[in-house]
Formats: sequence, C-alpha cells, structure tokens
Amino acid sequence: EAARRQYPAQAIVDLKAMRDNMRHLVATVGGPQSGTAVMGVVKADAYGHGLLPSALAALAGGATWLGTAQSHEALLLRQLGIGPDRCHILTWVYNGTAVPFDELIDNDIDVSVGSLAGIDAIAAAARKLGKAARVHVKVDSGFGRNGFTPEGFDAALAKLVQLAQEGVIEVIGQWSHLAVADSPDVPEFVESTERQIANFNAFTDRMKQAGIAPSIRHLANTAATLDRPEIHFELTRPGIGLYGYEPDPAMGTPNTYKLKPAMRLQAQLGTVKDVEAGHGISYGRTYLTPQNTSTAIVPLGYADGIHRSASGFDMEGAKHVDKPGGPVRVMTKQGPHIYHVSGRVCMDQFILDLHGSAAELGIAEGDTVELFGPGRGEEYGEPTADDWARAADTISYEIFTCLRNRIPRLYE
Ligand code: PLP
Repeated sequence: EAARRQYPAQAIVDLKAMRDNMRHLVATVGGPQSGTAVMGVVKADAYGHGLLPSALAALAGGATWLGTAQSHEALLLRQLGIGPDRCHILTWVYNGTAVPFDELIDNDIDVSVGSLAGIDAIAAAARKLGKAARVHVKVDSGFGRNGFTPEGFDAALAKLVQLAQEGVIEVIGQWSHLAVADSPDVPEFVESTERQIANFNAFTDRMKQAGIAPSIRHLANTAATLDRPEIHFELTRPGIGLYGYEPDPAMGTPNTYKLKPAMRLQAQLGTVKDVEAGHGISYGRTYLTPQNTSTAIVPLGYADGIHRSASGFDMEGAKHVDKPGGPVRVMTKQGPHIYHVSGRVCMDQFILDLHGSAAELGIAEGDTVELFGPGRGEEYGEPTADDWARAADTISYEIFTCLRNRIPRLYE
C-alpha cells in the first residue's frame, strides 16, 4: 500500500509463476534425475524482476545452477546467503583481467574463460589463493561473441592441460551460446544452429584428444531447452522462460509452452479530462484527437524505461500515419478495454485517448491500469511485454531490463 502511495506505478512479480516456470523447464529436460540440470539465468537483476527473489524462486522450482553475466551479481548472490551447498553459480562477462577472479574463486563461483589472457588471469588468482578455479571453457561455435575459435584453440588447450595437471584449475564445463535458436521455422536459421552444434561437438573432440573431458557441457538457452532435447547435454541455461516468455513471440503465446509471465506492470491514472477534436497530444503534436474525447495520463515515461519508440502517432507533420503505441488495459463500466499510447511518450508520463467520455466510460483519476501482465496477448485483451516489444520494435528482454528502479518491484 505504501508503494502504491509513494510511487505512481508498480511492477508486481508473481514468484509462484516463476517457480512453476522453472518446474516446467526442469520437467522439459526430463526431471531432476535425468542427468540434465537447469540453470536459472538471473543476470541483469533477473531480467529486471529482482535478483534475489527470482534466484530463490528458480531454486524452489528445481534449478541447481544460477547464472549471471556480471561478477558483482554472482558475488551478491553468495553474500545474500546462497551458498555453494545450495547451488552452483557461473558468471561470464569478461572485462579483461579486471575481473575479480580471486573473489569469485574464493566464493566458489565458477568462471568462464575464452581467451589466453583470461586463462592467465584465472591461474594467477587461483595460485594466489591456493585454491583451484572451477572453469568453463567458452568456445565460439558461431555466435561471434566470446569464446575460443578453432584456430586459437590449440594454444588454449596446452595451457589448460598444464594448469589442470598442476591443480590450479579444474575444467568443469565446455559451453557456448546459440545465435538463432529462437526461430525454428526459418530453414537458414535451423541450418545455422545445426552448424553451431557440429562446431560445438568438434571442440569437445579436441578437448578430449588433449586429455580434458569436461563433465558438463551447456549450449541451450530457453528456446533450445523447450525445443531441442538433443542439445540439453548436462545443463541448460534458460533465462526468458523463467520469467514466463518465449524468446520469440512467433513460437506461440506463453501458454504454448505452459509458461506464465511473472511480471505485471501497473500504474494509477493521473489527470483525466475532456478535450475537443483536433487537440494536439504531447510533444511534436504527432497525435491529434480525431473527435471530442477524454484523455487520461499514465504516470510512466522513458525515465522509467517505457520506450519512446512505443509512442503512438496519427500524424507525422501534416501527413496522416497510423502507428499504434503500446497497449494499456483499462477497466471501464463495460469491462476491460485496451487503449494505446497516444502521441509521444514523455520522460515521466504518457497519454491515452479514451475515444469517448471518461465519465460515460467510468474511467477516473486514480484508477489502476495495466501495461502488461500474465495474459495471452493483446489480441486476447491481455497485453504482454511482447505486445510492448512489438510497439517499440524490440524484444521482451529489453522491455523488462529497461524498467528502472523508480518502479518498485512488489512480490506476491
Ligand atoms: N546464456 C547466455 C550466455 C546468455 O547470454 C543468455 C541470455 O541472453 C542466456 C543463456 C539465456 O537466454 P534466454 O533468455 O534466451 O533463455
């Protein structure tokens, strides 16, 4: 209630939904006894859902690994009490030798390595601590981001073998990331994923020939966890699925895979007023009210992470254009109705044309409205982050991770 009074908008996170999503992902890989573990990817403040509650929900759902991009989030999880007896943690973003490998190793956090300088930095930290580093060897199977390439792999293997023999490192895993696993219907994409899998296996063969047999191989994100059992290996790394979404809305509504969106973003309406036809709405007058109508202000803007590209236009200069903005579900006397952002999203607010009289519609200042929630999508009258992604020409991942801290996360 305090958060409702002090902040004009709230993100309500359903931790049970998140736990159930993880249960579903664990069941998809064959359950806890299958030989495939599941990592809850909780990087970037758990895709904006809140690091610790989301991590605990993932563990409650059967995840036995957590993954973060940045070191500080992995360390924070350990500091907050998620000990090595509870789960493994892997962290992977590499900012050169500045990575605090000593702290990570000391806190039993697994580290990724994909460059020769990285191997040296990990080895130096492990030697200083007198404790073996748990290392996952990142290979570039075709994503073109981190990881050893086939050309540079011999030199890396020589170093890794030497350090493993000395007990400075323990090679726990081999891993890579898929570029296009989220588009199963596009033949070129399927082909490119298959090439990535073949490349990944070729790296494994070379590791084995060099005398290193990583016990845990992992390649699958949410899409491959759901759709490609042949590459579940010993571990999969779903992120967006934990939060209840498919990587690509073309894969279906969340219900296709029995996932439930965990976050509901709501706000309380500000000024509601009547305006005449032809009234310019917001900066640039990109929306002119087509008729006499009422407008309502939603107190969220780009400073909260609402994309300005989700603005809605009916005018561009003097020209008529039809670009609907992001959807908002508003309760009217006749039941819920979806309106769209009218005009430009401002820094702290945006405006809805209610296409009618607010008094007649039964819409009033202070009413709670929903930008997205646990439904099946706008076409069902239940907007999701995918609908906002479409309106802003982006992906649900960016919708969540852009939500700023001035929107409190409340847990239920
Ligand atoms: N693994 C790595 C290395 C990632 O960077 C990500 C997220 O981008 C994931 C796994 C999870 O991917 P997704 O959210 O598509 O399941």
